[in-house]
Amino acid sequence: MARYTGPVCRLCRRDGMKLFLKGTRCDTPKCAFERREVPPGQQNYRRGKQTDYGIHLREKQKLKHYYGVLERQFRLYFKRAESSRGNTGDTLLSLLERRLDNVVHRMGFGLSRSQARQLIGHGHVTVNGRRVDVSSFLVKVGDVVRIKNRAKSLDLVRGALAENSRDVPDFLSVADSDIPEGMVGRLPGVDDISIPIQTQLIVELCSRQQRGSR
Ligand code: SF4
Repeated sequence: MARYTGPVCRLCRRDGMKLFLKGTRCDTPKCAFERREVPPGQQNYRRGKQTDYGIHLREKQKLKHYYGVLERQFRLYFKRAESSRGNTGDTLLSLLERRLDNVVHRMGFGLSRSQARQLIGHGHVTVNGRRVDVSSFLVKVGDVVRIKNRAKSLDLVRGALAENSRDVPDFLSVADSDIPEGMVGRLPGVDDISIPIQTQLIVELCSRQQRGSR
């Protein structure tokens, strides 16, 4: 699956908020957003008022950057959320939060989502006892996510657990055992998302874009 490989701190500065894409560095004074809270690029110092479209687009980009999802995949999530029952924005957030890379990160086994993706891609993660190497895998209620009982896997994850300072969200639980393991207790809701996102703006923009492409 294609992914963004450019400088990630630039994304925080562009989106105007901390997206916590670099693990422990994000909580230190070295954070690029803390040091320079202006958008990247000289021309932005002269930038005028944002258009309505610009405001909607920025909100969507924030969400994509936060979860490390590219446009094509994001549209698929939106389509699925739109065709589900319930509030489209809430369902969209829940789908993104259920991604395996996000769950591994939020359990504390990876310092960032990209580190979690690396763990998954290299085959260090199992779900209900079966190896899963697809970061976009969606977890369900009752799924048990575990790090393989191999020296290399455990070393990587223990390092992350030692440095991690974030709390595990309520919808997940992490077992207190030698092998890093956690369970999905319920489906994530809007309150479990750790950054402020105005989903209504995203839904309006994506609906408009979909109508335009038909
Ligand atoms: Fe964003 Fe983290 Fe870089 Fe700060 S250190 S700008 S929060 S990715």
